[in-house]
Amino acid sequence: MQAAASPLLHSGFQASVQRVPEYPALSLRGQTWTYRELDGIARVWASALVKLEKRPKRVGILGHRSLVTYAGFLAALYAGATVVPLNKKYPVARNQDVLERAGIDVVLVDQGSLAQLGRLLDGLADAPSTVLPESDEAPANLPEGVRVLTRRDLEDCVPLAEPATADPEDGAYLLFTSGSTGRPKGVPISHANVTAFLAANTERYGFTAQDRFTNTFDQTFDLSIFDLFMAWGSGGCLVPMDSFDLMTPLDFVRRNDITVWFSVPSVAVLQHRRGVLEPDSLPSLRWSLFCGEALPAATAQAWQEAAPGSVLENLYGPTEATIACLVHRWDPRTSPAGAVNGVVSIGSPYPGMAAAVLDEDGRPVPDGETGELCLAGTQVFEGYLNAPEQTESAFHTTVSEDGGIRRWYRTGDLVRRTAEGAHGYVGRLDTQVKILGHRIETGEVEAHLLRQEGVAQAVVVAVPGDEEGVTVLAGILAGDDLDVYEVDDRLRETLPPYMIPLTYHLLDTFPLNVNGKVDRKVLREQVVSGDLEPVLL
Ligand code: AMP
Repeated sequence: MQAAASPLLHSGFQASVQRVPEYPALSLRGQTWTYRELDGIARVWASALVKLEKRPKRVGILGHRSLVTYAGFLAALYAGATVVPLNKKYPVARNQDVLERAGIDVVLVDQGSLAQLGRLLDGLADAPSTVLPESDEAPANLPEGVRVLTRRDLEDCVPLAEPATADPEDGAYLLFTSGSTGRPKGVPISHANVTAFLAANTERYGFTAQDRFTNTFDQTFDLSIFDLFMAWGSGGCLVPMDSFDLMTPLDFVRRNDITVWFSVPSVAVLQHRRGVLEPDSLPSLRWSLFCGEALPAATAQAWQEAAPGSVLENLYGPTEATIACLVHRWDPRTSPAGAVNGVVSIGSPYPGMAAAVLDEDGRPVPDGETGELCLAGTQVFEGYLNAPEQTESAFHTTVSEDGGIRRWYRTGDLVRRTAEGAHGYVGRLDTQVKILGHRIETGEVEAHLLRQEGVAQAVVVAVPGDEEGVTVLAGILAGDDLDVYEVDDRLRETLPPYMIPLTYHLLDTFPLNVNGKVDRKVLREQVVSGDLEPVLL
């Protein structure tokens, strides 16, 4: 097991390289790399990164479930950099925004993402250098002056003898989450933040070198950090799933003898609704872990029956408090009673973390009453990237009787605490929604809609989709000479696919509430009831 005091995100991996060098660390589409091999690749690539930039501060990874996304992550850490995952499924404009705002020095790119690279670097004042470990040649359309190392160049690189040292307070990774003002917010997570998370899980789960882990999440979703570094810290094997596997996840578990399952609840909800979650059908699982959105009790029950040999847990946490920081262990006898509106409790805080339920002035609310869940402790980030005002409004500061000052991160989640210290999940304070686990500020989608020609007013709401248990976005628009097809096309140029409304609805004027504000509730009801018909796309 990884030592509890491991100071850096990749320390557990390095310990496993020493301890179980010939064990499989990564199994990707039938090909397997041992710990020794993966370490060797990461050292060569890290040496390439250092060759391009003596001490790269931030390394971007543009790839999708390829060797580059896994070994590249380690290589960037070995080079002493903060890792900034990009996503090839996102529009170029969005990746470009991240590239610029994060100040990425070097970007590692896999073969499958090469087509985007030229456009990504086009027009950048300070284009990063690139490493293309899977390509023999650089694309012809790269802007002039961009430094490139290809697979051939890497053959001449001497593996980095010693990974660069880093301070625990240095950034381990930097992710961008949806921002209500129209721009994603950068969330820097330090080595100290993430190693606290890993240590808590190491203690809790006691994974071993025989464990086989899924990777259902893209790297732009922080839950993927759990998969990579919990697998590697325990000497186990990471077995990533591709898009096809994600459509038939239960077969994947069976085919690959998976022992640790981790996904958003939506994956399980879909299997449950489709009737394929049969009792005793997942015998290899030891752990069934869910995080990222509300877990319906009925789904937890069905999954537990399908995998009776596993312990099922509901993890909770925002990116800002490093992956997950509250957890509830499902017990078929007691958990259903602890559910609020059919949603499984999010349990109690991890060691090293504290949870408070506060009112809007930052005062504690009594147990049993609804308030905002606020978090403090080693996993909580320092603040958003270059956004002091957003950081300021994300925290409450409390002063205890003995004068102790505590900074509480305001999650925006509404909870009710029980007398035993468990937290029932009630919903959101704001208009943030989750679509298949993806965090979306509807305000961000609205801001992008309002930029489109002809759109005078825009409201985005989350509504139940045709498939039971699935939530989708509906965009309600008003404006003269509005071409919905054009608006939808344009939106796809700037927003990731999961942020695009599934349906659009047109209105002449928006209903207002008693305060004179657009009445979102009424609009949502009109979409759900079918009174507001969708425009056919
Ligand atoms: P993200 O930063 O993308 O991880 O999203 C964090 C948000 O996801 C939280 O603030 C919650 O609204 C939601 N969330 C995460 N885990 C759970 C859970 N187990 N139950 C309910 N909501 C959750």
